[in-house]
Amino acid sequence: MVEEQLIPRGIHDERVLQAMATVPRHLFVEDAMQANAYGDFPLPIGKGQTISQPYIVALMTEALQLQGHERILEIGTGSGYQAAVLSRLCERVYTIERLDGLLGRARRMFDKLRYHNIVSRIDDGTRGWLDQAPFDGIIVTAGGPIIPQPLLDQLADPGRMIIPVGDHGVQELQLVIKQDGETTIHLIEQVRFVDLIGAHGWNN
Ligand code: SAH
Repeated sequence: MVEEQLIPRGIHDERVLQAMATVPRHLFVEDAMQANAYGDFPLPIGKGQTISQPYIVALMTEALQLQGHERILEIGTGSGYQAAVLSRLCERVYTIERLDGLLGRARRMFDKLRYHNIVSRIDDGTRGWLDQAPFDGIIVTAGGPIIPQPLLDQLADPGRMIIPVGDHGVQELQLVIKQDGETTIHLIEQVRFVDLIGAHGWNN
């Protein structure tokens, strides 16, 4: 996966490549999908949701430029795979999922793998996690129509946020950089994420 998919497409952060090589992706997908877990495509994780293709996980992770000391907020825990990768690269991951069934499974896997620097909760992640803010990095793994204002407010300065923004089924991956009191937005590439549903996302 690392040598055939990530390096040829330009993922070069050694720590990201190392984390992607270490975290057992097959444990985060449904049993019937385990043989395909390292393939170059997204996979279903139940409840109509998907785990991103390995390249997209790597691309979004690399965009945060993690050094190891950061506190990161993730919206959309899903299978827990992205949170697991982040947990190898920063100090603490705060991850929010709106669907109960998915979070239970992810939590059991964090325990089993002893990824103890991941904390999680059930909530509408478009509101952020106010009492733990600000965050050095924010990663949103579902696509909404706008960048939720609470997430912008809860991003530290300096801080980086990576988020798909656009329409149902197709979005532009945006990198938001906050530095010296200014916020700039960079377009990365076109992506396809499931809907971000919430107060600052799509309606239920
Ligand atoms: N990062 C995940 C991919 C998750 S798919 C992984 O590595 O597997 C997107 C997830 O976002 C889904 O589980 C969906 O339920 C969740 N989601 C959608 N809107 C949300 C919201 N407002 N708050 C929290 N989670 C949300």
